[in-house]
Amino acid sequence: MDEQTARREICRVGQLLYDRSYVVSSDGNISVRLDDGRILATPTMTCKGRMTEDCLATTDTSGRPLTERKPSSELAMHLLIYAERPDVRAVCHAHPPHGTAFAVAGLAIDQPILSEVILTLGCVPLASYGTPSTEELSDAMRPLIKHHNALLMANHGAVAYGSDLWQAFDRLETLEHTARIAILSRILGGSRNLPTDAIEKLINVREAAGYLGEAARCQACGYLHETGLSCASGERSAASTYAGVNGAGKISLTREELVELLSQAVADK
Ligand SMILES: [Zn+2]
Repeated sequence: MDEQTARREICRVGQLLYDRSYVVSSDGNISVRLDDGRILATPTMTCKGRMTEDCLATTDTSGRPLTERKPSSELAMHLLIYAERPDVRAVCHAHPPHGTAFAVAGLAIDQPILSEVILTLGCVPLASYGTPSTEELSDAMRPLIKHHNALLMANHGAVAYGSDLWQAFDRLETLEHTARIAILSRILGGSRNLPTDAIEKLINVREAAGYLGEAARCQACGYLHETGLSCASGERSAASTYAGVNGAGKISLTREELVELLSQAVADK
């Protein structure tokens, strides 16, 4: 995407974030990784509903400004995502009220309640709290970025990313819509989860259709573990971290980790 188109689309997405109340005041930030590797980002202290194409900042891959425009102080989060995910070309961060309510309540959006969400987004884990724009937050997010397309940040908000800006925005919108439905269904007496065999079929459909790759099987959510599906690499690092950060009281271990733990316990006697 050429820079001028990216500038125009960032302003359009900013307007949508503001109009849909995903941000207020100068909340949130958006960035695009341009073809030459430079980062085009929303400026600091600017309302996303009132941006102009010439107000955006450009930086190098380490976040150093290339013009006098200063990028958002939260750009570090975007740079981390670009570093961890070479396939990602755009990042959208906002504080959408329903998704953020999950993040404030200490909950991930990880229940298998909607078929379309399993197909297109997968589960959204909760990264533990870290002060915005510091290493603390980066450390909490890092293990989760690889296998997920959107994250919640405890007591803060949500971030979504994709191969282009509209995919990043769509994922953020799906996250917010799912959180809203989850909250409403709880008011109606609780949601019913999809059964394991239905989840397995959805995972197969999403991979065949190319919505999400096999790497997403390693997502840190309980329902994928229950299906018994795992990705070829057998990685469960994000999952193990997730159990810790979420404080969910549910731990998942690989066979090797379990054997190791049991051998240690026996050896300690
Ligand atoms: Zn924020």
